[in-house]
Amino acid sequence: MLESTIAGSLPKPPWLAEPETLWAPWRLPPETLAQGQRDAVLLALRDQEEAGIDIVTDGEQSRQHFVHGFLPKIEGVDFGRRVTIGIRADRYKAEVPVVTGPISRRGSIHGDEVRFARAHTTRRLKFTIPGPMTIVDTLADEHFRSRERLAMEFAEIINGEARELAALGLDVLQLDEPAFNVDAYLDDVRAWGIAALERATAGLGIRTAVHICYGYGIKANIDWKRTLGSEWRQYEQTFPLLARSRIDQVSLECANSRVPMSLLRLLEGKDVLVGAIDVATTSVETPEEVAATIRKALSFVPPERLYPCTNCGMVPLPREVARGKLRALAAGTALVRAGRVH
Ligand code: ZN
Repeated sequence: MLESTIAGSLPKPPWLAEPETLWAPWRLPPETLAQGQRDAVLLALRDQEEAGIDIVTDGEQSRQHFVHGFLPKIEGVDFGRRVTIGIRADRYKAEVPVVTGPISRRGSIHGDEVRFARAHTTRRLKFTIPGPMTIVDTLADEHFRSRERLAMEFAEIINGEARELAALGLDVLQLDEPAFNVDAYLDDVRAWGIAALERATAGLGIRTAVHICYGYGIKANIDWKRTLGSEWRQYEQTFPLLARSRIDQVSLECANSRVPMSLLRLLEGKDVLVGAIDVATTSVETPEEVAATIRKALSFVPPERLYPCTNCGMVPLPREVARGKLRALAAGTALVRAGRVH
């Protein structure tokens, strides 16, 4: 009960990629990059195990960005052509590749990564892939000219990949859908976003999760959060849809956020990954602060369905801060567990 996990990413070692940077360039030459990434995965697993995290990830050490790690092996996505577009309803600019024709998977994308991580931890293993709507929002499309059609095409591709990964011994497959939290997209979430998510995760035979957040602690997101008012109620739109979906788990943001905790009630029947670690600050939570967030969530989520987690990925944070936050997450979880026994 109350098993801890993380949203997905951890900082990369400074010898692998530029620290504290999103889309950080690799620091190793192509001939040693794969070896360096594997070494970094071992460290990421070890950090989580030593901290006491129950369900671990590979820390997303082998991808430059959570969306663009998936795309280079997709036929029809031209990485040679990059254009700068506004993403998440123009919240920030990103240089993205272009869809220039029909899309298909050239072969296994993350199989080697999952095989390696699986072989190097005895803990339960979660792996993350971007969700269809978030992929579509992080691309320029000159072929399909329809976000819905492109999302459904990606859902098929993700499902093929996901079935292979599930067969390699994964325990949880998580799709990251921060695009679900953008006000301007909520009608699309209802119209086709959930359907694309369900298509992408159909028939896996393992736990499936979706992560929906208010983003990394970068300036564009912090500025955006200031415009959202005293209560953040985006989840109020999506949770009832997810509660009716086939997705097993929902990972969301609670620590230092203005999300009313009572919205968690809307996820009745689902596992809830409660963000009890703020990734937008370098100050490390105390175990008591983590425990307080978990206890608040326990008013709305039964303990057997509550998984203490981070608000979002920790890739942009300094490594020592991320390590401290992992330890605080596990220690805070332990406090609540102990309290429930007495
Ligand atoms: Zn996130």
